[in-house]
Amino acid sequence: MAVTLIVPTTLRMFTEHRSELTLDGNTVGEVIDALADEYPDTRKVLYGEDGRLREFINVFVGADNIRDLNGYDTPVKEGDEIMLIPAIAGGSGDTVDDVRESVLGDRLGEKLTNDEIKRYSRHLLLKEIGVKGQRRLKAAKVLIVGMGGLGAPLVQYLAAAGVGTLGLIDFDEVEESNLQRQVIHGSRDIGRPKVASAKDSIKQINPLVKVETYNMRLTAENAVELISQYDVVADASDNYQTRYLVNDACVLLGKPDVFGAMYQFEGQASVYYAKEGPCYRCMYPAPPPAGLVPSCAMGGVVGVLPGMIGTVQANEVIKLIVGGGKLLTGRLVMFDAWRMRWRELKIRKDPRCPICGETPTITELEEYDYEDFCGIKTREAEDETVEGIEPKELKRRIDAGEKITVVDVREPHERAIAKFPDAIVIPIGQLARRQDELDPSADTVFVCKEGKRSILAVRTLREAGYKGAAYNLAGGTNAWSREVDSSFPQY
Ligand SMILES: [Zn+2]
Repeated sequence: MAVTLIVPTTLRMFTEHRSELTLDGNTVGEVIDALADEYPDTRKVLYGEDGRLREFINVFVGADNIRDLNGYDTPVKEGDEIMLIPAIAGGSGDTVDDVRESVLGDRLGEKLTNDEIKRYSRHLLLKEIGVKGQRRLKAAKVLIVGMGGLGAPLVQYLAAAGVGTLGLIDFDEVEESNLQRQVIHGSRDIGRPKVASAKDSIKQINPLVKVETYNMRLTAENAVELISQYDVVADASDNYQTRYLVNDACVLLGKPDVFGAMYQFEGQASVYYAKEGPCYRCMYPAPPPAGLVPSCAMGGVVGVLPGMIGTVQANEVIKLIVGGGKLLTGRLVMFDAWRMRWRELKIRKDPRCPICGETPTITELEEYDYEDFCGIKTREAEDETVEGIEPKELKRRIDAGEKITVVDVREPHERAIAKFPDAIVIPIGQLARRQDELDPSADTVFVCKEGKRSILAVRTLREAGYKGAAYNLAGGTNAWSREVDSSFPQY
C-alpha cells in the first residue's frame, strides 16, 4: 500500500527537507519503519531507548489518533494520509518543495537599515523570508479595498510585516457599530473617514510604511488606473459589485486578488489569480439576486471572525510577495467559527469564464454595468414601487388616533433589543399565509431596522395578492430613533 506521510516542520531536517513522503506499508507501524529505513536519522528522534515511539509525537491516520484505533497495528489503505504531530514550542523550519516566484519578480527594496534589521529580526530568521524576502516586502505595494472588519487585520499585519506601501480605499466613515470588530478604529475615530483613522493606526504600528489613502468608492472608471499601481490587491469589501470589479480589474492587469468574505459565523478565503488558477467569476458566474443574501449590517457578524479571515488574507499577501509556500489559488477555505471547523474546497478554472476563459467577453471595465449585473438597478426600480412613510409622519398619525396597523418584521432576537410600540409581530417568512390578520381597510406600515426588509415585506405581501394599502417605515427603527424617539436604541 502506498500511503502519504506528512512530515512536520520540526522533523524535516531529517528528511532532506521534504514535507510529504510516499511510503509503503500495510499498517502504521510498517509505514513508520519504512520512514526510519529511508531516513535513518529519524529513528533516534522517533523512538526512545525502549524502542517505542516517543510520547511527544502523536500519529494520526486521517483525522484519528492511532491511540484511539489499533496503535501501530492500525491498518492503512492505498492513498491514506498519516500525519506525525509532535509538540512544538515555536521556531522555524524549511522545506524544498514549496518553491514559487515572487509576484515582484526580481524587484528588491533598498538595503535594510540596522533599525529595520532589528524590527524585522523574526522574519530574517526564517529561511523562507530572510533578508531577500524582507527587501521584497519593503519594495511591495499592496492595495486593500475596504477598511472594515477584514481590512483591520490586513492593515495591522501587513504594516507590522514591513510592506513598503499600503494603499487604502474606502468611502465610509467610522460608526459606533463598527468598533465591535474593526479594531484599527477606536472610539475617538467615530465620524472620521475610515482611511484616515486606519492611516493613523498604521503610523502607530510602523512609521516606516508609506500609506496612500483614497477616500472614495472603487468604480469601473477608476479601478484599472488605481490597481495598476499595485502588486497585490486584497479584497476586504462588503458588496458584490466591488468583488466583481476587483476580480475583473485584477484579471485584466494580471494581478492576484486575495479574497476574504464573511457572514455571521462563517468565513471564506481564497486567492483568485487568473495567471495560475481560477478567478472569482469562475467560482461564482453570477451574484445572488440583490437583497436575497443579507449583509453583516442586517444579519450580524461575530467580532473575531474578520480577525481570523483577514489574517489568512494577510498571510497569502505575504507569501505572494516573498515567493514560496503554497498559495490558496484553486482552493477555497471555509471557516465556521461557531463549530470551529475549517474546510477546504477545490475550485477550477472555467474555460467559459467571461473574463479569464478562452474567449473572454469582458475586455473593458468602463463598458460593463456592474450595478445592472448585480441586480441593483432592478431592485431599486422595484423598491420604488413601495411607498415609504417618514418616521415623523407615522408618529403624527399614531398620535392623531388614525386607524393604522404597525407590523414589526424584525427577528425575535432584534425585538429583544427593543420592542416597537404598539406593533404586531409577523416574521417576513410568514407574511403571505398570515395576511388575514391584517385589515385591508386600514393603512399598514411595516417596520424593520433600516427600512430594507420592510420594503421586501410589502412586495412579498403584494405578490401574495394582498389588496390593502401597505407602506414601509422609511429608514426603519434607526431613523425612528434619530427623528422621533432617541430612547429607542440604534443597532
Ligand atoms: Zn475566471
